[in-house]
Amino acid sequence: MNYIEPHAHMVSRVTDDYLKLKLAGCQAVCEPAFWAGFDRSSPAGFHDYFSQLTEHEPKRAAKFGLPHFCWLCINPKESEDLKLAEEVLALIPKFLNAPNVLGIGEIGLNKNSRNEIKVLERHVDLAARHQQLILVHTPHLEDKLKGTRLILETLKNDKRIRPERVIIDHVEEHTIELVLDSGMWAGMTLYPESKCTPARAIDMVERYGSERLWMNSACDWGISDPLAVPKTALEMTKRGHTIENIDRLVFQNPARFLSQSSKFKLP
Ligand SMILES: [Zn+2]
Repeated sequence: MNYIEPHAHMVSRVTDDYLKLKLAGCQAVCEPAFWAGFDRSSPAGFHDYFSQLTEHEPKRAAKFGLPHFCWLCINPKESEDLKLAEEVLALIPKFLNAPNVLGIGEIGLNKNSRNEIKVLERHVDLAARHQQLILVHTPHLEDKLKGTRLILETLKNDKRIRPERVIIDHVEEHTIELVLDSGMWAGMTLYPESKCTPARAIDMVERYGSERLWMNSACDWGISDPLAVPKTALEMTKRGHTIENIDRLVFQNPARFLSQSSKFKLP
């Protein structure tokens, strides 16, 4: 089985994880910029992180025969500091021409605060001005529904943004319909403990279809499973899904969305 891992924080994984992805049939790995598990103390920390995502990590992935792509932004959690956010936003344009950068992400909201919304709007403007794809992070638990509504509103308010060029990630049962109705894509993040389990993800596929849907493992510095996507694909076969259905969800769909950036190419 071929698949694409469209959302994985590989900077926090060991080389064995690259090997596992490769052995499981992964054809490309995409890494949004995110919180590192701690707050960075200066814009220089982000400069180094962006260099890591655009220069170092693609080389590490290439050792395992995997194309590595990335997304850039200051994540919502650290966006609360407006001065820092402005300084980091100013760093991004010079990295956008790097050959593996697909767009702006993962932007969005964490606590749905005023400052976070301001920085979200700045990122949406940046994406529009540079014709970039957008990948969005939605808040956790009780903030998710409200946050998803605020994010969709912000994106719809900017008339330059085409919905089919945006993916809203970490959807759950109570937000997926809202996202799909907006014309945007939806991503399901498979976590062993929180967010969405494989069984819940498959239930959503069966209920809503897989027209504009993908699955990812996130595999960050917390408890997560880099093989969550192929394991869920296996689970789908047990529930009677055809190989064509599974291939569409785990391979064709991410390829279709990501190919809207001319930089996304599979070997
Ligand atoms: Zn993430």
